[in-house]
Amino acid sequence: MFDTLSDRLAATFKNLRGKGRLSEADIDATAREIRIALLEADVALPVVRAFIKQVKERAAGAEVSQALNPAQQVIKIVNEELIGILGGETRRLRYAKNPPTVIMLAGLQGSGKTTLAGKLGRWLKQQGHAPLLVACDLQRPNAVNQLSVVAERAGVAVYAPEPGNGVGDPVKVAEDSVGYARDKHHDVVVVDTAGRLGIDEELMRQAADIRDAVSPDEILFVVDAMIGQDAVTTAEAFRDGVGFDGVVLSKLDGDARGGAALSVAQVTGKQIMFASNGEKLDDFDAFHPDRMASRILG
Ligand code: GDP
Repeated sequence: MFDTLSDRLAATFKNLRGKGRLSEADIDATAREIRIALLEADVALPVVRAFIKQVKERAAGAEVSQALNPAQQVIKIVNEELIGILGGETRRLRYAKNPPTVIMLAGLQGSGKTTLAGKLGRWLKQQGHAPLLVACDLQRPNAVNQLSVVAERAGVAVYAPEPGNGVGDPVKVAEDSVGYARDKHHDVVVVDTAGRLGIDEELMRQAADIRDAVSPDEILFVVDAMIGQDAVTTAEAFRDGVGFDGVVLSKLDGDARGGAALSVAQVTGKQIMFASNGEKLDDFDAFHPDRMASRILG
């Protein structure tokens, strides 16, 4: 396994104990270690560069601390900067003044949207809401069925076109679901949309059409944490093609260090709101920037 950044920095500063201040050489040596730690966490290179620059500037201007040795002082700065990029506090969902609140999920196929719809449904129910999951992924043959199964397991309602009914218009399904939710007193609608394996224009157009039809209160971009730095390209494509308000990281259980989190947060400026860390419905929680910062640093 990797040495932790803290171990490495402590080694870098071994001969500096007692000096109590950061010289330019100290800062350079530190920056090197931070760079390695971030690259090992699979953070995208431009994000690493921008981050190092920020930390160097802050470290250079830092007050000499009496309480902390140089290694601790740098780690404190790095940690604070990471938490800052990750959004500081956990951001909560925005609910509509007039229900139903519409939450739209967007992301590549396989990113974990359908699974997330079930997890979010269950989580919302636990918070006292009456969610409705809406099957707008009509691209993948089994997606509607998969959402129904997930909804049943989560104990929440689902709105889906009847199989074999020739209902092929996801925009209409999304639109109709909102009226249905109002009639049936569902206060939150979670719209699952289609994804492709790669980014393509039709996918973006369809997602944008659904967005325009239902004016979501929250568009959540779902991204597989295991794709590491590739998360940047995907996030940029969805930001430009559909736009989103928040991010959900999925499959964090398969990714040791969570570099995707930092890359996506830095590049899009949008906050990660939830994290999925397993295939079970309960493997899901609000995202905590401070915990992720420690994880990235190792
Ligand atoms: P979608 O195509 O975006 O709807 O993705 P799915 O929800 O179908 O998920 C794709 C695959 O990833 C499925 O096999 C899920 O069981 C799996 N999956 C989803 N979320 C997680 C997660 O947090 N951890 C793990 N290990 N697997 C997940």
